[in-house]
Amino acid sequence: MTPFNKPYLTGKETKYIEEAVATGKISGNGIFTQKCQKFFEDTYDFKKALLTTSCTDALEMCAILADINAGDEVIVPSYTFVSSALPFVRQNAKIIFADSYSDNPNIDADKIESLITDKTKAIVIVHYAGIACDMEKILEIAEKHNLIVIEDAAQAIDSYYIFKDGTQKALGSIGHLGAFSFHETKNIISGEGGMLTINDERFINRAEIIWEKGTNRSMFFRGEINKYGWVDTGSSFLPSEIISAFLWAQLENIKPIQEKRLEIWNRYYEGLKDNTNIALPLMPKYATNNAHMFYITCKDLDFRTGLIKKLKESDILAVFHYLSLHKSDFYAQKHDDRDLPNSDHFENCLLRLPLFYELTEAQQQNVINIINEF
Ligand SMILES: *Cc1c(COP(=O)(O)O)cnc(C)c1O
Repeated sequence: MTPFNKPYLTGKETKYIEEAVATGKISGNGIFTQKCQKFFEDTYDFKKALLTTSCTDALEMCAILADINAGDEVIVPSYTFVSSALPFVRQNAKIIFADSYSDNPNIDADKIESLITDKTKAIVIVHYAGIACDMEKILEIAEKHNLIVIEDAAQAIDSYYIFKDGTQKALGSIGHLGAFSFHETKNIISGEGGMLTINDERFINRAEIIWEKGTNRSMFFRGEINKYGWVDTGSSFLPSEIISAFLWAQLENIKPIQEKRLEIWNRYYEGLKDNTNIALPLMPKYATNNAHMFYITCKDLDFRTGLIKKLKESDILAVFHYLSLHKSDFYAQKHDDRDLPNSDHFENCLLRLPLFYELTEAQQQNVINIINEF
């Protein structure tokens, strides 16, 4: 049996959870939370990192910070997870769905500008499979129209965008705000978990307040004020120390985890690159690879259905991914009538192969052989 995913444990998770419990403080924003946040800020150059209970939560914080309200429009790709759009719908915004490129599931940056109206307030971009969107183009459009850029970097930990001048910036550190996930299906995990990253300083103070139920408790604990109270909207977005302790064990091992995933990714690429019935992931010149996912694009739905069935006969689980959000039960009626053919193409033809730390070379070779024989 080859599952699609198997959460990897480094071995230190329960030890650090015991340590967190022993401190007697297991609510949020304690030692482990701060250690994780400092690690992220130092390693990836985020101006501020705040752990959250999920990426969805981090995106809800983004929607509040971007001051999204009824009547506002937010541009979101259609080929993504519900959470990229949901937080903005909860703020009563209208979602303007954008299409993917024909050969890459990421948002087609050349088509964004035609979607902008005087009601547009923000663009949500998703670095699908941890592969960067065309950030230079997107930042230029956002600047010209004074829009907030929110990076849904759920899949994009430890991945970079390479600017034309050769400098690199970590994904999630480029837009005004970013959101990461540590759900058990991602590279670095804590069961459920996430992180908001803030790269525009004017959002930092308010983010800390929204994170702590609309109170200025973080400032109080730093001794900046002598009592704390209710000053804004917000929710309980911060995770307990038990989750942060688990996450810390993962972060200590981020290097070997990433190396192993890349090794597996490269083996798929080598093993499948001569197969003319499928397309392999497109790696733009400006993107690095964090090996979050290995996907192939089949020529049509029938081919994909047949291949899934063939792999299943050998107990291998390969899975398709998103259903276009613009056609979803929840949003189809509210969507204008634009077709988004590339999003639909990936809905029908994209297939994700097993990729996890403990996948053996023999298991992987078997997957490759079956695909090539099919
Ligand atoms: C996983 C994922 C999310 C949701 O993450 P949670 O931590 O489960 O809330 C959002 N967007 C994308 C693109 C994802 O892959």
